[in-house]
Amino acid sequence: MARRPLIVIGSGLAGLTCAWASGPEGCILLTAGALTDGAASTWAQGGIAAALSPDDSTALHAEDTWRAGAFAGDRAVIDRITGVAPEVVRLLVELEVPFDRAPDGSIDLALEGGHSRSRVAHAGDHSGAAVTAAMAQAVLAAPQVDVREHHTVTRLLADASGAICGVEVRRRDGSLEVIPADRVMLATGGMGGLWAHTTNPTTALGQGVALAARVGARTDDLHLVQFHPTALDVARDPMPLLTEALRGAGAHLLSDGARFVDELQPRDVVAAAVWEQLTEGRTVCLDARGIDRVATRFPAVADLTAASGLDVTRDLLPVRPALHYSMGGVTVDDTGRSSVPGLWAIGEVSRTGLHGANRLASNSLLEAVVTGRAAASDAIAWSGAWPRTVEPAGPATIRSRTDRARSGGARSDDGSLLLAQVRETLDSACGVLRDGPTLQAAVDRLEPHVGNDAAYAAWLIARSALAHPASVGAHRRTDSVLPEGVSA
Ligand SMILES: Cc1cc2nc3c(=O)[nH]c(=O)nc-3n(C[C@H](O)[C@H](O)[C@H](O)COP(=O)(O)OP(=O)(O)OC[C@H]3O[C@@H](n4cnc5c(N)ncnc54)[C@H](O)[C@@H]3O)c2cc1C
Repeated sequence: MARRPLIVIGSGLAGLTCAWASGPEGCILLTAGALTDGAASTWAQGGIAAALSPDDSTALHAEDTWRAGAFAGDRAVIDRITGVAPEVVRLLVELEVPFDRAPDGSIDLALEGGHSRSRVAHAGDHSGAAVTAAMAQAVLAAPQVDVREHHTVTRLLADASGAICGVEVRRRDGSLEVIPADRVMLATGGMGGLWAHTTNPTTALGQGVALAARVGARTDDLHLVQFHPTALDVARDPMPLLTEALRGAGAHLLSDGARFVDELQPRDVVAAAVWEQLTEGRTVCLDARGIDRVATRFPAVADLTAASGLDVTRDLLPVRPALHYSMGGVTVDDTGRSSVPGLWAIGEVSRTGLHGANRLASNSLLEAVVTGRAAASDAIAWSGAWPRTVEPAGPATIRSRTDRARSGGARSDDGSLLLAQVRETLDSACGVLRDGPTLQAAVDRLEPHVGNDAAYAAWLIARSALAHPASVGAHRRTDSVLPEGVSA
């Protein structure tokens, strides 16, 4: 009997890499919009981290990743992923990604916060678009990949044993289709759109986490989300990002005109420092005026600021922290396997253990390529066995789509009103600073709406934050007594 096709959900860098790496067998690539639409991958400005310079090493890259993650990452995973980063950049060069070059022809490497060396390969300040476009080209050139645009996955189907047996898809005309499958790759990206202040596409609503959790997949560290310290504080949704590379090139953060923080510390530290100034009523700005040829070197930033009536060469740029990245997600092993037989997760939707409690800048495009490739080879070679490498989810986290609103507020089926409430709830309860009573109120407020995927993902996040009373990395509890891992 012919094998059922491998299904890949999402066309960001992780999904595209996986589809490309599926080789001669190929796959069906389902994506919500047109190819690469709604993918945070295309928005990445900074680039991809790899130890490429003579004064650098993969061991140093691993050490920086471990340190930035507040020592909460999985050391073996960190070593493995940072260890192959130079090879990943070479692969992208082969795919003709136009990385910027130094005068000697080597790849130009930028410095970003938390890195002890300049190690971010970039294509101007539109690195994500360049890398994703190259991978999309490679996928489109592969006839064995069946790309189905405007196919939004609304449900994962599991059989009586709990193993994946198909996906339910909503097509552009609103009709639903079931595609039988026993191998599904979740590559649906992050969940920043669940917060009112975010740099993510507003379509990044954590649907992958909701889909997976409904079929019983384990999720971890959902409360570990990264706030980017320098979102441009203008009335736009999502908020324009002022890349960290600006600070690496010498831009300063000013609070009421005075410097207040070492701008190149890891993001959680800088975001918390910015937040403190803002809550004390001061105005925080990024001053990039001193950067040589700033508008030429950062054309995307120049365009973004100009669209808000600001000139990066002459104006101070008002900033605030905004939700940027999710370190947690669907828990997976080294090959991307989740706790549910037949379900792999790759890229930002997964929780690999690379980022710990705070992602090191420019490590996520790297993770998308590495996990996409590893999961593709595993799924292609898969013969049906699924030894338990990831512990099952606790039953308390599993909710079905038919769970309906039980009490007041917006009904679960009133999507836009409910989403606005979800975003406001996470912004206030799961922001840079958290506390137990506010988190408990958020869980209670979200619980009646868990039949809705966005509300369910938000409920899981708030629950996870509530369940972790100690501060670690980007998770800062004002009612924290001891750092996580330290016992009295
Ligand atoms: C503004 C910005 C700047 C960034 N800069 C950097 C950087 O410089 N370096 C770095 O390493 N990282 C950066 N990041 C983070 C990085 O871009 C992401 O973590 C990474 O690209 C995620 O890739 P992904 O493939 O997992 O998800 P995405 O690229 O977000 O792709 C997700 C895909 O899934 C699809 N999808 C979602 N739900 C469904 C569904 N139900 N059915 C079908 N399709 C679905 C989406 O349409 C999309 O195609 C940045 C992020 C942002 C927002």
